[in-house]
Amino acid sequence: MAVPLTFLVLILRTNIQAGIYLKMIAKVILNNREHNIDQCFDYAIPDGMNALPGMRVSVPFGFGNRYSRGIIVGISEKSEFENLKEISKIIDKEPLCSEEILKLCLWIKEKYFCSFYQALRLFLPPGIESGVKEKNIRMVRLASSKEEALAAAKKMLSGRAQIQGNMLKILCENSPVSSFELMRLSGGNSAALSALCKKGFAEISDKRVYREAYNSDKYARSGGCTPTGEQKVVIDHLINRISSGRHEKILLRGVTGSGKTEVFLQAIEHCINIGKTAIMLVPEISLTPQMVKRFVSRFGEMVAVIHSGLSKGERFDHCNKIKNGEVSVVVGARSAVFAPFENIGIIILDEEHESSYKSDTTPRYHARDVAAKRAEDCGAVLLLASATPSLTSYYKAEIGEYKLFEMLERYNKMEMPAVKIVDMRGELFNNKNFSPLSLTLQREIDKNLQNKSKTILFLNRRGYSTFVSCRECGYVMECDDCSVSMTYHKNINQMVCHYCGGLAPVPEFCPECGSKHIKFFGTGTQKIEEAITKRFPSARVLRMDTDTTSHKGGHEEILDAFARGEADILVGTQMVTKGLDFPDVTLVGVLAADTSLCMDDFRASERSFSLLTQVCGRAGRGDIPGRAVIQTYQPFNSTIKYAKNHDYINFYNSEITNRKRLNYPPFCDIISIMASGETEDCVEAFMNDIKAELDRFMKSSGCITSMIGPMPAPLAKIKNQFRYRILLKVSSLDEIHPLLALLIKNGEAQNGKVFLSIDTNPTNMF
Ligand code: ADP
Ligand code: ZN
Ligand code: ZN
Repeated sequence: MAVPLTFLVLILRTNIQAGIYLKMIAKVILNNREHNIDQCFDYAIPDGMNALPGMRVSVPFGFGNRYSRGIIVGISEKSEFENLKEISKIIDKEPLCSEEILKLCLWIKEKYFCSFYQALRLFLPPGIESGVKEKNIRMVRLASSKEEALAAAKKMLSGRAQIQGNMLKILCENSPVSSFELMRLSGGNSAALSALCKKGFAEISDKRVYREAYNSDKYARSGGCTPTGEQKVVIDHLINRISSGRHEKILLRGVTGSGKTEVFLQAIEHCINIGKTAIMLVPEISLTPQMVKRFVSRFGEMVAVIHSGLSKGERFDHCNKIKNGEVSVVVGARSAVFAPFENIGIIILDEEHESSYKSDTTPRYHARDVAAKRAEDCGAVLLLASATPSLTSYYKAEIGEYKLFEMLERYNKMEMPAVKIVDMRGELFNNKNFSPLSLTLQREIDKNLQNKSKTILFLNRRGYSTFVSCRECGYVMECDDCSVSMTYHKNINQMVCHYCGGLAPVPEFCPECGSKHIKFFGTGTQKIEEAITKRFPSARVLRMDTDTTSHKGGHEEILDAFARGEADILVGTQMVTKGLDFPDVTLVGVLAADTSLCMDDFRASERSFSLLTQVCGRAGRGDIPGRAVIQTYQPFNSTIKYAKNHDYINFYNSEITNRKRLNYPPFCDIISIMASGETEDCVEAFMNDIKAELDRFMKSSGCITSMIGPMPAPLAKIKNQFRYRILLKVSSLDEIHPLLALLIKNGEAQNGKVFLSIDTNPTNMF
């Protein structure tokens, strides 16, 4: 009689489980930086050893069998190799991370050309290798009955053991108590305490405590509001999708003040209700204390806030809370995308267009891409939100890769602020006004001071002093080949194009109108503050910039003071543009729109548009309509005009047409290949070899559409390392990926003197 097939299979499986075939095999990746051994190695698991994916191990490696550390990334029943070495030791009692995270690390390693451990480190608490410790406190409890203890205490107090007696008496009333507190209350010492333990009256144990980074008691708890019609459509969709556990990528464009944050809060609340977790990313947490407050007051203990001001210990504790399931929501900057959650319901990126979501150190990941991959892997919703989505994201929504929702009204139906553009060229020559405040802006500030309404003044310092423009006609010096503005480099006293490396002398006269009023741009916030105090002596002014906010909680102090009405005018850098929600701010002034327009980057218009929209969006969020004044030397610039009209769609249409014409992202991807080393000749020769490889590749594939370099990078030398760069435009990342991976591998194998790094769609070009 034939044996049924299923039965056979069953026998085989049982045999494997019984260990008849082979020992179990662990796939181990070593903790090292070298790409050519950054791969899985098979090790046999000794009998009785409890080895699981995610546990660190010690293994013999190489001819000398030196012990190396590694991590198990998978378990298998067979290996292609014979005579496997055995794992010598397991380091962790429990896996450090889930299998989902191990898989994600492999993906990050591949995609961003880093080592597996560099990827893994993103998910682990800081200092796990060097040993930040859990924080414990010693607790003391009464170990006998209270009656016995009181009787004994009485005896001690009347005899010679008075310190012990006192301590025991206090313990009777306060058990359990921390040993610190017990000594403080009783005036006792540790000798007395251990005597009490020996006599059987007291017992000491360690209690795990968390370093509290955010004092949640400080914030009153608040409930949700009834959503508006526009909000409800989005919230309902999100709730449905989260419940279904089916992945989806969603883009939400909502004008400033349309109530996006309320949408996030309600979606996350739903996650918590059905036992799922949520990751909420914001550009930089220290810039958005108001946002954090709303999360903490809605979710209290359920939320962990991760920001750059945390100590190592605080981070370590947060990470453990997340891993142990003690919190369900994490709010944080880009690295919070690595929160070791399981069962994720939604990952949200607020202000998704912000460049701070891209890391510019290894691993050079973009939080948006990692979030998308994570959400895909675990059936979560990815929600990207912004008043001014990045061109790339909106394009993806247009071609159907993202589902698009739009909220076009402010929640209270308030009008968007009325924006005036002031031509600063006229200010200097017609009005003889040398102040950084135009007469128009001065009049508006006067009005606000009379009405006791608040004003925010914004000065962009990015790109400060680095580009050249004419004060008379507004001419800006650009590279003829790349149509991006050129940057002044002090060390060579030349103008440099950061794309093609082209050089030009610093002009003495404007090539357009001949004026000698052509100069570097920029004034500092401090100068502005002085100008304001001089012109409006009665006004109370607060300044917010890196100087005034460098101490812990500095942002919050200034914003709280502004909220309490302790100032009439808040003047500051980028920090004042984001997420602030003060209902009584009715006037916003942009002191020099040009500084953001003139960045040496093809994304300059995109950034300017979003910056102007954001900053104007701070005005008129309450019951009184808002006004904004934009001062500029380029009043006819179309980006400024679109921002004035709050016209995202037309801005998008015109800009996407430019991108297509010039073949910039999203119509291609830009890859920067950078080599650095101590000897310039070495670096250059190395890059020439790479160029030769790329040339060969270009002959067989149409994937590379343009190649610039090798040439010295804009910052040609950092810390005595010479830097050379090749820039590529490619039509398919997948197609070129194997070649890039090979370059990295070979780069290491044959040359210890040059360090090679590859960055996909870098956000800064230095
Ligand atoms: P955005 O994030 O889009 O800029 P917010 O979520 O900050 O907008 O909302 C702006 C203001 O409107 C906030 O003060 C918020 O509390 C309030 N708000 C938003 N939605 C509602 C609602 N449905 N009911 C009442 N107030 C709301
Ligand atoms: Zn000029
Ligand atoms: Zn150029």
